[in-house]
Amino acid sequence: MDKDCTIYVAGHRGLVGSALVRRLKEQGYGRIVHQTSSELDLRDRDQVERWFSEQSIDYVFLAAAKVGGIAANQDFPADFIRDNLLIQTNVIDAAYRHNVKKLLFLGSTCIYPKLAPQPMREQDLLGGPLEPSNEPYAVAKITGIKMCQAYNRQYGTRFISVMPTNLYGPQDNFDLHTSHVLPALIRKFHDAMVSNAASVEVWGSGEPKREFLHSDDLADACVFLMKNYGGDEIVNVGWGKDIKISELAALIGRIVGYEGDIVYDRTKPDGTPRKLVDVSRLTEMGWQARITLEEGLRRTYQDYLKEIYHTGG
Ligand code: GDP
Repeated sequence: MDKDCTIYVAGHRGLVGSALVRRLKEQGYGRIVHQTSSELDLRDRDQVERWFSEQSIDYVFLAAAKVGGIAANQDFPADFIRDNLLIQTNVIDAAYRHNVKKLLFLGSTCIYPKLAPQPMREQDLLGGPLEPSNEPYAVAKITGIKMCQAYNRQYGTRFISVMPTNLYGPQDNFDLHTSHVLPALIRKFHDAMVSNAASVEVWGSGEPKREFLHSDDLADACVFLMKNYGGDEIVNVGWGKDIKISELAALIGRIVGYEGDIVYDRTKPDGTPRKLVDVSRLTEMGWQARITLEEGLRRTYQDYLKEIYHTGG
């Protein structure tokens, strides 16, 4: 990637896209183009076609997607499958027709079978039934992967696919009803600290284990792969180790400075006991995540404080 090439980051306002823009700027890339969804509706083929004909795009990071937690996936399954299929089909096809040099498609680890052995390896894709709660979303993402591979085979394109583990970072969703555990606990511990509450409620038993990756690490991996990887196989990106929810809660409590009790609400679901990706394919290429969970949590807490005190939210 030359420093003066044109890079299109689709989804630049999201957790992943915003981290990509930061990373590309830090590395000195001058021409990064993007559009908000009101300026360019990626579900509309004509608008996507117009955008690609106006810009002379060399590289595409396809980080635009309709995403959401378990509740949203259950309430709007048709929106999740339709919007994601439309967005990715339009962008992948336009990238091919406009001779984009390389495209990176962002998947998700929910593409792996519900009962995939842990850590989940790239070759486990399509090895068994999916988790039903987000199956429409996962099927759309699997279609994106297969589409990239099919275009490579038939048209000789260079479209690669990356599967990030659970992410966190700036632009995260801190809404307690729809967020994932890490931003939810930051918010809960902060609120408890501010209001001098005697205890904080953590869902489930605290026993499940999860892996967490900072979005800046993911962005770094994506830029690394865009430069160094041209293969057809999907690539997992993760931290490589997981931690118990109870340990995560204790760590967040310490970072926020909350000294009360932690109580476990066992009426809430634990979900899957463990979710971890095998990162050996990526580490063998010479890339490793750098932002420790402790450092990442400190940064995320600072971002959260800035957000709530600047917006008054
Ligand atoms: P998952 O990784 O798809 O299961 O999604 P989550 O990030 O929502 O949940 C991960 C684990 O954290 C589950 O065992 C939850 O029960 C647990 N957890 C504990 N407290 C919370 C909370 O306040 N919000 C959420 N979303 N999960 C929590």
